[in-house]
Amino acid sequence: MPPSANAHDKIFDTPHRAAFEIFGVKLHDARWGGFDCSKAEAEKGGASIFAIALFEHGVLWDELHKKFRYSVPRVWEGRVEANRAKLINLLYLAKRLPMRKVGFLKSEPLRQCAPEHLFTITDIDEETDPGAIWLTLDPEPSNDLSYPYRQATPRAFQLDYCELSRLRMKQEAETQRSLASAVEERRSRLAQAEKVPRKIVVQSVQYDRNPDVIAERLYLANGVCGGCGAKAPFIRRSNGDPYLEVHHVLPLSENGTDEVENTIALCPNCHREWHYGPPRA
Ligand SMILES: [Zn+2]
Ligand SMILES: [Zn+2]
Repeated sequence: MPPSANAHDKIFDTPHRAAFEIFGVKLHDARWGGFDCSKAEAEKGGASIFAIALFEHGVLWDELHKKFRYSVPRVWEGRVEANRAKLINLLYLAKRLPMRKVGFLKSEPLRQCAPEHLFTITDIDEETDPGAIWLTLDPEPSNDLSYPYRQATPRAFQLDYCELSRLRMKQEAETQRSLASAVEERRSRLAQAEKVPRKIVVQSVQYDRNPDVIAERLYLANGVCGGCGAKAPFIRRSNGDPYLEVHHVLPLSENGTDEVENTIALCPNCHREWHYGPPRA
């Protein structure tokens, strides 16, 4: 395909490898991105920069959040291609390690780069979209923003609506990451964080449980937890009954049945433990 006669074509004046060399990056381990050392050295904390070529047609201006986004699909045309898999692995690594992270524009038809069209990668998001890793980009001062970037909010970031299970998984993964990060890093993020959370409409599957099963189990429990054998910790304000929670031993989501035999009445502590504690024999 002949290169298009786009007014912006002249900015793509640097060959691929030469563009990476500007940032001291050698493409040892993947074709479209790398560190200023090998992946093995980066794993030991030896990298000071990660750079990636951003195909210009893929850089999107996210109108909803006023940020630049770029997706790196996990699979391409239905297959996991080796080069793509390598790049994904480098992105996972870059995400974990503190270093400068940048991306610069590349034109696919011209096969040349525009390294002065530079972005700082501020986020590498692997939870929002199962199909891709999304980069959030901050333009560097050198970046000419008159470039005709495509404008659209990627579906993955239209998070005003999502599945409850996905939201829970994302929050759990992000909490684990926060726990693993350095205390000072977390505190500097906290200092800059939005104080009012965004509202999200979620879609979730719930079971229309049989009230007779719940009532019968509570009746049989007679105010005593089936886990620890202690008395219910408090009395319900609404009806004066001892407070216990009816748990399905084999979860309904795993095709457990909604009958008394598959239930146990638990105090709130035991109930949480059954869900989040060590596996039960
Ligand atoms: Zn208990
Ligand atoms: Zn439960």
